[in-house]
Amino acid sequence: MTHLVKIRPSAADRILACPQSGWPCDNPVNGSSAASAIGDAVHAILAVAAKHGVDAAAPDRVMRAHGVEHAADEVMGMVHYAIRRLAIICDKYPGRCWEQDTEAKGRLELPNGTVVEGTTDFLAYGPDGVLTIDWKTGRDIGDHRAQLRTYAAIAAGALADNIMVDPGKGVVAIEVWLRQRESATELLLPGDIAKHLQALERASKSRNVDPGKHCGFCPRRNICDARQEQLQATIGAMSARASGALDRTALADLYDRSKELEALLKAYKAAVGAALEDGDLHMSDGRIIAKMTSERCSVDALRAQPLLESIGLTGPQIAEATTISLGKVLDAVRDNVCAKYTDNPAGVPRGELGRAKAKAREVLEPALKRAFITSRRVKRGKGQKDA
Ligand code: SF4
Repeated sequence: MTHLVKIRPSAADRILACPQSGWPCDNPVNGSSAASAIGDAVHAILAVAAKHGVDAAAPDRVMRAHGVEHAADEVMGMVHYAIRRLAIICDKYPGRCWEQDTEAKGRLELPNGTVVEGTTDFLAYGPDGVLTIDWKTGRDIGDHRAQLRTYAAIAAGALADNIMVDPGKGVVAIEVWLRQRESATELLLPGDIAKHLQALERASKSRNVDPGKHCGFCPRRNICDARQEQLQATIGAMSARASGALDRTALADLYDRSKELEALLKAYKAAVGAALEDGDLHMSDGRIIAKMTSERCSVDALRAQPLLESIGLTGPQIAEATTISLGKVLDAVRDNVCAKYTDNPAGVPRGELGRAKAKAREVLEPALKRAFITSRRVKRGKGQKDA
């Protein structure tokens, strides 16, 4: 074989970063997980709901089929946001949204015979050109520009013979992060698409190996020597940190790699959990790992009010012991606003949701208790452009 047989858009970023990762191998690692089941359910619902409404998509049935009924709030939160966001996007690009299709399949053949094949989550076109949307359901916002460009290339290829579409207007490709409610937009003109396809073709002929954060999604990751070496080096560098031998940049550079170790640790702990379902695990030194079940309780505030009073708690004591989640309050405000527009085909008017939430926050301001939580986020630095 002198080149890759097929490239899927979801693998484009990884293959450009490490061409070797696209080559076939025995026993490829299957990437399916609970998170991907949630993503699949969101996509399956949106494939129908984007055109015919949420009810037509039978979300309960879809969630059951994907085994994610327990995450219904999470799934439906993303679905409703996507529908609202879609209305906003179509308002912004009316001349690209005359015709709309969900889950449109497309296929391109590169000059060397490699096939680029995939399904865009949403494809629309009109006299102003083409538009594609990629719904993202992941927890971390990554850089998926190659994926977006590949979808744009597939969309442009699929509509190449459509007389309504002027190829010179290019493709507006948008990725929407449904959890984080952020998006990135890129306009790809024919020259940009051609350049991207050339890069894919070059990668399809290469066997270069370059480990990095993309390894976490690679089907070859269990057999890849380069990745094993990098993991060893990561552990070594982390040990160096323990003795204070890392400068600030070296410390930051370890961040992506630390995520890989975290993922391995998580997978190891999941394996231990699964093994404990069949009984205790015995260590070679005689100690035993056993399964423990403990109870975690929360209190239903509505039912608890009279019960707490009945055991003599005063109003301030009850208030002190009660926590109301601001996120849940704002979710309820969102649901109320959405319910008002259920029968409106245009959905919730632009900005209304934001205004309702801002108003709710304003009303609640005197009751808010503030605590500051520090967390980490990777963002683009100076000189790195947004897609
Ligand atoms: S595991 Fe990483 S380095 Fe190895 S082939 Fe896959 S992406 Fe490349």
